[in-house]
Amino acid sequence: MSATLQMNAPLLRVDDLKKHFPLRGGLLGGVTGHVYAVDGISFDIAKGETLSLVGESGCGKSTVGKAVLRLFDITAGQVVLDGQRIDTMSQSALRKIRRRVQVVFQDPFSSLNPRMRVKDILAEPIRNFGLAKDNADLDRRLAELMDTVRLPRDAIGRWPHEFSGGQRQRIGIARALAAEPDLIICDEAVSALDVSVKAQIVNLLQDLQAKLGLALLFISHDLAIVEHMTHRVAVMYLGKIVEVAPRRSLFAAPKHPYTEALLSAVPVPQPGAARKRIILKGDVPSPINPPSGCRFHTRCPYAFDRCKLDEPLLKPTSTGHLAACHLHDLPAVQNPLSRDVSPLH
Ligand code: SF4
Repeated sequence: MSATLQMNAPLLRVDDLKKHFPLRGGLLGGVTGHVYAVDGISFDIAKGETLSLVGESGCGKSTVGKAVLRLFDITAGQVVLDGQRIDTMSQSALRKIRRRVQVVFQDPFSSLNPRMRVKDILAEPIRNFGLAKDNADLDRRLAELMDTVRLPRDAIGRWPHEFSGGQRQRIGIARALAAEPDLIICDEAVSALDVSVKAQIVNLLQDLQAKLGLALLFISHDLAIVEHMTHRVAVMYLGKIVEVAPRRSLFAAPKHPYTEALLSAVPVPQPGAARKRIILKGDVPSPINPPSGCRFHTRCPYAFDRCKLDEPLLKPTSTGHLAACHLHDLPAVQNPLSRDVSPLH
């Protein structure tokens, strides 16, 4: 491979990933069906980039994070980190690469061991991955981690229950950073926090990314959170990615009806401005028996005959988004999403 290609190679590449969970039932406990949690998705993340994976709960986005962490075997596809396939890696090879991908979970209350002091929580990954030369180096690293996440150094001897929710999430971030990763998966990492604390943690993650050159896979159900922090957004619906675009362009003019509906619920900061709220009909269908054709056709305000039959592929639109929607095969005058202006009404 040429040097240029290597320079441009993504840090993480997910290719046609599928994760189908078997459903068991009956007297003999045989497989009676599958939950099609993730059903053929592809994306990549460059070094130092934030990609946000958004969608309603149950769309499969957290399953994607777990697949990248190799918390289970995938059904099909590939997960490639810096040129190495994680999905087929042996457990011994995986142990060496685990350091490079860390995670921050939603619930800082349950993700920290209540019987370990902060010092031990942070020292564990440093010791496990052999990152400290000696005890003095370990102490120096621990102090630096506390500084990095803006917690007082003298709090390192305390227990998790002595901290607020936001402080605990800072400890969770410090624990992820302790392993010196290239990629952090933030799985609804700020969803459980109060609004003002949320903003502080998002700012911290942004600062860390700029300072350390980290890549982030930011998994969230809340588009309002990702609006100010991400480089690109991938929107998931019922196990599929339906749109991928740079942040500004996606928020200004979405090219998939589902993205348009999600965005319509995001508050607009300008006084007097308001997005026309699109209320989707019905509930999200079951991933056990997803709709034929376009999975969104049962709720889409623009659905037409072809949508029930043909599954739309994720392909480039005229504005450079990737979108899976048959509307973009129609003449522009018949496509309500062909406009390239802000969806403010
Ligand atoms: Fe709606 Fe049809 Fe586009 Fe699916 S393909 S999002 S149903 S218009």
